[in-house]
Amino acid sequence: MDRIVVLPGDGIGPEVTAQAQRVLEVVCAKHDIKIGFEEALIGGASIDAKGSPLTDDVIELCRESRAILLGAVGGPKWDDMPVATRPEKGLLGIRKALGLFANLRPAQVFSALAQASSLRPEVVEGIDMLVVRELTGGIYFGEPRFIDRSGPVRTATNAMVYDENEIARITRVAFEAAGGRRQHVTHVHKANVLEVSQLWMEVVEEVAKNYPNIELAHQLVDSCAMLLVKEPRRFDVIVTGNLFGDILSDQAAMITGSLGMLPSASIAEGGLGLYEPVHGSAPDIAGQDLANPLAAILSGAMMLEHSFSAHDAAGAIRSAVDAVLDAGHRTGDIVLDGENRPTIGCVEMGDRVLEQLECV
Ligand code: NAD
Repeated sequence: MDRIVVLPGDGIGPEVTAQAQRVLEVVCAKHDIKIGFEEALIGGASIDAKGSPLTDDVIELCRESRAILLGAVGGPKWDDMPVATRPEKGLLGIRKALGLFANLRPAQVFSALAQASSLRPEVVEGIDMLVVRELTGGIYFGEPRFIDRSGPVRTATNAMVYDENEIARITRVAFEAAGGRRQHVTHVHKANVLEVSQLWMEVVEEVAKNYPNIELAHQLVDSCAMLLVKEPRRFDVIVTGNLFGDILSDQAAMITGSLGMLPSASIAEGGLGLYEPVHGSAPDIAGQDLANPLAAILSGAMMLEHSFSAHDAAGAIRSAVDAVLDAGHRTGDIVLDGENRPTIGCVEMGDRVLEQLECV
């Protein structure tokens, strides 16, 4: 039996992870995948109970497990705390402690929700891309980093640093992912200006030789940003460093519509993965059964795919979500303008997905 640690966190976190857990239980039973859940604290919930947003015993528990399902952390109750001890530190702490170097953010348009995008439906219909972002290196972590206030003019410095091994391992993640998709990788860079990007070009080309069936393209980050809104359908897998990936993954996600639909995965060497919805703890709707659990449920599908290599089971969840949306079921956040239909709550959305899974 493989252990999945559930870290519900704060706000709507416990509501959405509860639905994801129900769905995982059912789909794993149907596909003969033996799993057991263990729940632990993170974020504000952990501060309240243990005085710290992340404790060593929780890190150890996660390390000894197959995968982690996380809800969200944070909320007004803890907003006045010093930055170093706030709930968000729990999230950064667990990513660092587990060495989660690869962040995977799919951006997919469900045809029933194509109208939710700020772009025209004919531009977004059929978008299905995956942004693979390096998460533990680059300019966010590079040394030296400082503000120099000693002279007459203040200056600040950050360093963008990557070694070839960091580039190669994230590139392999992207190519492996493309193998199960449309066999296309776009490497996003700024090699006309940055030496770091020139090294990325070299290493990405070297790694690509091991994947002869997968097509590789290089795209400057500025033109990639334009193409994402002009012709988003052309992208399959995008691979890039921490800074560019941070920005492009949010841009790609937002052209698809609602925050409540976006899953993510962060993966360590050896396959341990942390799966979480992109949205936050939504304190404005917490505890009212209003949250959309589909991002958390789709994060469960990513878990089955990446930590269990259970592609059929993952596909079953995605098909069930598709069918639920096609049937017109909506939580409040994904009701389209002009749609005159009653909304359902978080638990009922979970029920509808389970119903569909029973039919598959
Ligand atoms: P948020 O994502 O929590 O909410 C933004 C808006 O989207 C809100 O109106 C909310 O009601 C809505 N929303 C978000 N998820 C939804 C869902 N599943 N269903 C329906 N509606 C949904 O972002 P925020 O308001 O900027 O942040 C709130 C708290 O969450 C803050 O404390 C912030 O630090 C934290 N946060 C945590 C994470 C994380 O845990 N990964 C990410 C972002 C923000």
